[in-house]
Amino acid sequence: MSPLVGVLALQGDFAAHTAILEALGAEVREIRVPGDLTGIDGLVIPGGESTTMTLGVEREGLGDPLRSFAKEGKPLLGTCAGMIMVDRDHLAIMDIRAARNAFGRQVNSFEQDLDFDGIQGGPLRAVFIRAPWIAEHGPAVEILAEVDGHAVAAREANVLVVSFHPEISGEPRVHELFLEMITAHAS
Ligand code: GLN
Repeated sequence: MSPLVGVLALQGDFAAHTAILEALGAEVREIRVPGDLTGIDGLVIPGGESTTMTLGVEREGLGDPLRSFAKEGKPLLGTCAGMIMVDRDHLAIMDIRAARNAFGRQVNSFEQDLDFDGIQGGPLRAVFIRAPWIAEHGPAVEILAEVDGHAVAAREANVLVVSFHPEISGEPRVHELFLEMITAHAS
């Protein structure tokens, strides 16, 4: 049976996540209100603008439902603004502090090949757009990839975050890893 994956669809590039997840054989439900979370096996928080997304989460009363979802141990993938959304200062789902726009104005956006722990098949093509990095993290957080010594991908239990945009670079392996986490959790 294909997993049912939720994609938070308040703001940002949620449609690109929907497309890649469907191409990989998942069923997708866009999440806009708390009731949409019922019955989903995993959740993506997309890139976009974390301030706007935070306002949407507050408006819809999604904060506690999203935290409960994560507490159940169901897999969650946060990309770019999604990494910011799960950090200590926002939803506090993951023991990290994300620094917004950390790469600075000069290098707003760039692409880079990354070595990613746990992903085989050669370097991963990563697109960074006003990306955060992980400035601090607790002991349970495993850093999976770095750019110039700055952590740009990490995992804590079933929460996976990347500060780049795998959904727009034609790079399926981050979503494949996420779908594997969902399968492992379901069985
Ligand atoms: N800079 C954005 C923020 O702070 C994140 C950028 C992105 O998601 N591409 O929310």
